[in-house]
Amino acid sequence: MLTGRRYRLALSETQAQYAELIGGTCRAVWNTGLEQRREYRRRGVWINYRQQAGQLAAAKVEHPWLADAPGHCLQQTLMDLDRACRERGTWKVRWRSARGWRPSFRFPEGNKISVERLGRRWGRAKLPKLGWVRLHWSRPLGGAIRSATLSRDGAHWYVSFLVEDGKQTPRQHPSASAVGVDRGVAVAVACSDGTIHDRQFSTRGERKRYRRLQQQLARQKKNSTNRRKTIAALRTLKRRETDRRGDFARQVANRLATRHGLVVLENLAIKGMTASAKGSIAEPGRNVARKAALNRAILGKGWHRFELALTYAARYTGTGIVKVSAAYTSQTCSRCRSVDPASRESQAVFRCTRCGHSANADVNAAQNILAAGRAVTACGDLGAGRSVKQEPLTIA
Ligand SMILES: [Zn+2]
Repeated sequence: MLTGRRYRLALSETQAQYAELIGGTCRAVWNTGLEQRREYRRRGVWINYRQQAGQLAAAKVEHPWLADAPGHCLQQTLMDLDRACRERGTWKVRWRSARGWRPSFRFPEGNKISVERLGRRWGRAKLPKLGWVRLHWSRPLGGAIRSATLSRDGAHWYVSFLVEDGKQTPRQHPSASAVGVDRGVAVAVACSDGTIHDRQFSTRGERKRYRRLQQQLARQKKNSTNRRKTIAALRTLKRRETDRRGDFARQVANRLATRHGLVVLENLAIKGMTASAKGSIAEPGRNVARKAALNRAILGKGWHRFELALTYAARYTGTGIVKVSAAYTSQTCSRCRSVDPASRESQAVFRCTRCGHSANADVNAAQNILAAGRAVTACGDLGAGRSVKQEPLTIA
């Protein structure tokens, strides 16, 4: 099956400049292509990828700078634009602004890319026009390359290979074991079998430094060199935290998928819960104070990331994933099924007001989630490896 492999690049000064140039050209092609598509729409007609690609080829004669970037990357940009316009509608596709867009471009021809390992920590990849680029060898490639995408995140460039690893999703998981997972605020991942996976993603020192940099940022003048430096330092700290969160999500997801044939999750509307707190480092969103604390906790544990990691891991193990409604799972006793908000004694402790059953609140919730998931699968709703959405859980 197709899978992604991402490595950090160590580009030379010249290569980094060239990559920046390709990114800039792709951005220009995207914006020009989008402008053209909107113009056509205003006149009530359409322009498709084929026509735009033809015009791009012609434009290279007049604008030789276009030819400095690899032709395939530019075509790929137009293809991405074409898909974005078809999926989201021409008027909803966004411009790529010089400041808001992270440069990224794709080499679509895997057979023109080769990768070699150079030692324990280094490898290199040969890319069209860019030539050999060095990369931090963090994991084996494990398959045939289909495409490569270069992107810059803060100060660093990365390459993501799309790889065909030759594996297939097993028809059935070897284990019939099922587990319910609660993604609580207090702990990252609580399982119905009582295991709790949790980790801090930043040290106290890092959090302190982050706050200090933010205060510094507030005092600095817009567009000043020092302000840019501060933003870069903030990004580096954030990146480190994000990387750790990703590692954690993958580890827990792998463990669960390896052990269990069925994983039941809550169906949380994460998007709605966090949309108001979105904002960039330079310009944090406004009116966010009210929800910010909860949002920070939710985002901080990377729930969405975990769900993605689990879906990914399940492709290799054949684990089924079921999503059930999150309603009442935290107020229901997993033993006697009675529902009472008062049973949730505190953030961490559940004590049933009827039967006296006492447990870790998130583990109790995970057990309810598992029960709800079992109910769904017993109805025969489940196709292996497919997620199932369910009507709100009703508890007798
Ligand atoms: Zn009870």
